[in-house]
Amino acid sequence: MVDCDKILSALVRENYSIEVLCQALLFTGSAQQRLFALAQETRHMHFPENRAQVRSVIEVSNICRQRCRYCAIGGKNQAMNYSLNSEQIVMLVEFLYKQGRRTVLLQSGENVNEEFIQNIECAVTEICHIHNDIRIILCLGNLSYEQYERLYNAGAKDYILKFETSNAELFSYCKPNDTFEQRIECIKSLCKIGYNVGSGNIVGLPGQTLEDLANDLRLVHELPLAMNSTTIFIPAENSDFADMPAGNPNYTLNMMALMRIMNPHRLMPTTSSLEKMIEDGQFLGLLAGANTVTVHDGTPEEFQSHFPIYSAKRIRPQTEHFHDILSRAGMRTDNII
Ligand code: SF4
Repeated sequence: MVDCDKILSALVRENYSIEVLCQALLFTGSAQQRLFALAQETRHMHFPENRAQVRSVIEVSNICRQRCRYCAIGGKNQAMNYSLNSEQIVMLVEFLYKQGRRTVLLQSGENVNEEFIQNIECAVTEICHIHNDIRIILCLGNLSYEQYERLYNAGAKDYILKFETSNAELFSYCKPNDTFEQRIECIKSLCKIGYNVGSGNIVGLPGQTLEDLANDLRLVHELPLAMNSTTIFIPAENSDFADMPAGNPNYTLNMMALMRIMNPHRLMPTTSSLEKMIEDGQFLGLLAGANTVTVHDGTPEEFQSHFPIYSAKRIRPQTEHFHDILSRAGMRTDNII
């Protein structure tokens, strides 16, 4: 039987051994509630105002050179390729700004094409020229050092690049056109340039072990990140992993609580994938220590079904939902809305 007191006190003493982490990942029932309580206490100590960053997402393009086996983007069944031009991106950000949003995430498939990068560079330059109180987060995949640098100089100071799994073999199996080493190299380049970097993993990849998850936690802790995250694997229609079982929501929530305890100062989102997998999933993510919520209100409706990162039927939580879960979790937004 797992000794909950022993594991929690080991965590408080910053004992992050594989054994301690594996035991904590298995917590359910009252042991899990106590793990969440420690995560909330840790968050409150480092974010005493109990504010959550609210970020809007604009999915700027579904063109991708990767073919991750868990993702339905870019496959031969893709009905339509799209890329928003810089004017459209600026216009969408303006709309969100007027709604009170001050943090916007520009997400796309991985596309190193110069025209595409120039387009993003142009949009970021324009947005940051108009508003000096807006935070642009980029999530565009592996690019060259020079491209990362140009986007940073254009005004984007935050970048999310998840390593997905710390098991190099599993990484190659899931992402056959990329390597773990290359991914880590990109994360290090982003840190070197000065970005606030976000990274993290997926829980429930086919063949992933509990020990892999513990190693993911240790890697997240070792990297000089400003943001960390974990998402739950959902088998996407039309992907290679369409028939695989989904990830375990309890492991995912415990992973979040452990990320908070191990990395108290970082931003950590509660993701829409959790909402899809369990009832009130995003609220539970806040109880597990998250302090960031993502609102899918930036992508024009006609493109939404063409960005099926884990499902064409993905959940797109809107503002009202966040007011509700944040108030139930005793938190406030960092925006004016
Ligand atoms: S997960 Fe991202 S990089 Fe991988 S195929 Fe999907 S859009 Fe491309």
